[in-house]
Amino acid sequence: MLGERVNLFKMGTGMVRTLIAGNWKMNGLKSALAEVEKITARLAELPDTADCLLCPPATLIGAMAAISGDRLYVGGQYCHNKTSGAHTGDISAEMLVDSGARYVIVGHSERRDDHAERSAYVKSQAGAALRTGLIPIVCVGEEYAQRKRGETAEVIERIMRKSLPTMPEGSHDLVVAYEPKWAIGTGEIPTMEEIGVVHALIRKVLVDTYGMDGLKMPILYGGSMKPGNAAEILSVAEVNGGLIGGASLKADDFISIYEAAVA
Ligand code: PEP
Repeated sequence: MLGERVNLFKMGTGMVRTLIAGNWKMNGLKSALAEVEKITARLAELPDTADCLLCPPATLIGAMAAISGDRLYVGGQYCHNKTSGAHTGDISAEMLVDSGARYVIVGHSERRDDHAERSAYVKSQAGAALRTGLIPIVCVGEEYAQRKRGETAEVIERIMRKSLPTMPEGSHDLVVAYEPKWAIGTGEIPTMEEIGVVHALIRKVLVDTYGMDGLKMPILYGGSMKPGNAAEILSVAEVNGGLIGGASLKADDFISIYEAAVA
């Protein structure tokens, strides 16, 4: 049963370009741009058969975009669902684009928890991103207790159905990141089979929602991905890349993960 589900949409895997994405969270001062210079220099020596993205704090997006060259994309970690207005401290998708961003993470579990961002809001953020030309990375993941109770599939499907935006006709500029909450920053990861089962489910929901376009949308795994486990995780069917927190802060670690993706 599990194997069948993993293979169900295997045909789609070849249509998806791998994306290695870093999420710096609330880390990084201007001095951290030295890591970006190392990353861009190393990327120039490696095959361009995968895409590479870094999402720094908003304060660094402009400076990072200025030095990132044509192999490293820059993204935001959040956007408001409105274009402008009386929303102190917030940032709009339009502002991210203006700073040089190409992607934006929405619905990260830390935002869902720290700022009570619910799936309906995440959907509207993703919609705002798409209207502005940004590619949203919609994050979904279960709690450890939910996994233990055997509720993972139900939770992931429910969050996805509430969070996925309406896509412009014919567009597949959407990324989904599967991030088990209990694996983020803990060093714990699901088994490869468990990852495969959830990714196959995510592919199924994407195809149910978007038809054939759903076969072309990258599905990233996120949660304690490191140089030491990246190759194995990236070899799982329907894993089309990674969303990487801690290991994206150091050029050597991040590039090792990119190397695993293009090997
Ligand atoms: C994340 O924050 O999206 C993440 C996956 O973090 P880490 O890689 O540190 O677990």
